Amino acid sequence: MRDAGSRTVHRADVGYAEARRALSVSAHQPPHAPAAVARVADEQDVVDLVRAARRTGLRLAVRSGGHSLSATHLRPGSLALDLRALRGVHVDPHRGTARLGPGTTVEQAAALLDGSGWSFPVGHVPTVGLGGYLLAGGHGWNAGAWGAACERVVALDVVTADGRRLRLTREADAELLAVARGAGPTFPGVVVGLEVRLVPGVPTVVRRLLTVGGEDAAEVGAALDTLRTERLPGLEVTVFARRTGPCGGGPRAASLTVAGTAFGADAEHARRLLAALDVLPGAQGAAATVHGGLAGLVAALPRHDGEALWSDHAWSDRPWAALLPDVLAAVAAAPTTRSSVLVTPAPPREATVDAVHRPGGATSVSAYAHWDPVASGRPDAATAHAAWARAAVVREPLSPARYVGEADLTLPGRVQECFTPEDLARVRAAREHLDPDRHLWSAVDPTDAPLDEERGTTHQEEP
Ligand SMILES: Cc1cc2nc3c(=O)[nH]c(=O)nc-3n(C[C@H](O)[C@H](O)[C@H](O)COP(=O)(O)OP(=O)(O)OC[C@H]3O[C@@H](n4cnc5c(N)ncnc54)[C@H](O)[C@@H]3O)c2cc1C
Repeated sequence: MRDAGSRTVHRADVGYAEARRALSVSAHQPPHAPAAVARVADEQDVVDLVRAARRTGLRLAVRSGGHSLSATHLRPGSLALDLRALRGVHVDPHRGTARLGPGTTVEQAAALLDGSGWSFPVGHVPTVGLGGYLLAGGHGWNAGAWGAACERVVALDVVTADGRRLRLTREADAELLAVARGAGPTFPGVVVGLEVRLVPGVPTVVRRLLTVGGEDAAEVGAALDTLRTERLPGLEVTVFARRTGPCGGGPRAASLTVAGTAFGADAEHARRLLAALDVLPGAQGAAATVHGGLAGLVAALPRHDGEALWSDHAWSDRPWAALLPDVLAAVAAAPTTRSSVLVTPAPPREATVDAVHRPGGATSVSAYAHWDPVASGRPDAATAHAAWARAAVVREPLSPARYVGEADLTLPGRVQECFTPEDLARVRAAREHLDPDRHLWSAVDPTDAPLDEERGTTHQEEP
């Protein structure tokens, strides 16, 4: 295969271990070994590498920002295409759109958009890559007003698994675009650019955090249920639950933080939106922080460098008055106090936009396990953390439907839970159309049997 200079590192090469490790942001990684890791320089590089890999029979895996905690970018025997260098935000002010590179991170996009006077529902964490985020669905800032980010994708530049360049547009390729809006790690092409609809202007963001004790969970939940019925566009209310006492100490050994983030025309407008939180116990006098635009907000958030991470997800239709006490009970059993459960309203669906991203409930419940792999010192630490995240979201009566961006896809049958049967059929049809030979890894492929069993073929990969 063509070696893109020193950017492609093969398994026997010096630097392979570091190139492989750098594919994932989590310090915990499955043992899968790609045959080679290629840091692509530009879009033509992707075309050349894909064609060369096809000639030599190597399957492809794709990495934009490396946040898949199921490590869908890390596949045994593959050529791992690392797209981090395909970054940038090019605004077209006449059309109100921007072309985004898939390797652009949330913090890079927020800074570039603020500077150009436009906004976009970027993800909540600074380091997430826009490629994987937009394909998964994109639950971003101010989703109540701006919607799921994937619904703003109007065109895609794709390199197919046989090395062709395609531009998928809303007009000509509506079905493939609908699949790209939510297929996540089952999308059957390499996305090298995304055109998205922007929001005019840059809001002033003001944030207020209120921490309440476990004993107030039902009362806080009831107040937030009332607030949610009022649907205040521009006010995002989320709840984080964390353990504060001994593991297994019950709901009283855990606390809730209610985060109100207001996106106002100016600081005064944002503060008026935040006043809705005054109904919560202890809210009077809680300080608010003015962040300016999205870039300031994103920059103030914690980073997770060096940490091991795991996540799992469920949708819920339960009132928060009933949900929050259960969430507290779940975090009270978390192995570390850094682990958390996030409760957020599902992004509203735009009826006129077709997408396979389809929230399976009114509320998104995400369990994030965080641990220090060195300090934990236990080889089975990941198993314990994954089991906790799973237990936190599989309890009845949460929905069995999940968000493909945060669900634990290493569990059998999990990818299927992320789609309705009809949408899964659409994803499979898109694969049949764009990648009939299964050259690109998909999250529906089990890692120990690389080709789809449904096709009745087997394919021997490197261990
Ligand atoms: C700390 C943390 C915070 C998060 N916060 C949010 C959040 O606020 N909102 C939210 O919606 N999600 C969030 N997520 C989930 C995140 O959006 C998904 O994991 C997403 O897939 C990450 O994208 P990535 O490019 O960084 O990851 P990657 O691991 O690079 O990509 C994941 C998979 O997507 C596919 N893919 C990625 N890029 C391409 C491409 N260019 N072409 C084709 N396929 C591609 C590949 O199959 C790849 O394996 C968070 C995850 C973490 C770990």
